[in-house]
Amino acid sequence: MIDLAKKHFEKIVKLCGANRDCKYYPCHFDNQVCLWCFCPFYPCYEEGLGEFITGKDGNKIWSCMKCSWIHRPDVACEVLREILEVTRDKNITEVLNVFENRELLMEIMKRVREKFP
Ligand code: SF4
Repeated sequence: MIDLAKKHFEKIVKLCGANRDCKYYPCHFDNQVCLWCFCPFYPCYEEGLGEFITGKDGNKIWSCMKCSWIHRPDVACEVLREILEVTRDKNITEVLNVFENRELLMEIMKRVREKFP
């Protein structure tokens, strides 16, 4: 049981903390939080965070290379808190529907941005 708990602990710390075992770490800054490695707000089109770049095919794509915001501990925890709040009474299928609800996600982002600019 202790081994299982330890494994689980490792998983949580890797997922929620600074995953120094990742070959890309730190992709933004040292001690960053890797919880939202794949940002739930992508593409947010917030010019102060990311930017449009030209892809290999010549098309414009939204780039998050310069965005450190989502990796800040205060921001990452607040985004998680907000998402847990709106998914509290839902099963996994319903939770994934929340992920498809762009309007709701953008509302969450706006709230977190107001708290943590
Ligand atoms: S710019 Fe930042 S907040 Fe916006 S989608 Fe990219 S990672 Fe997320």
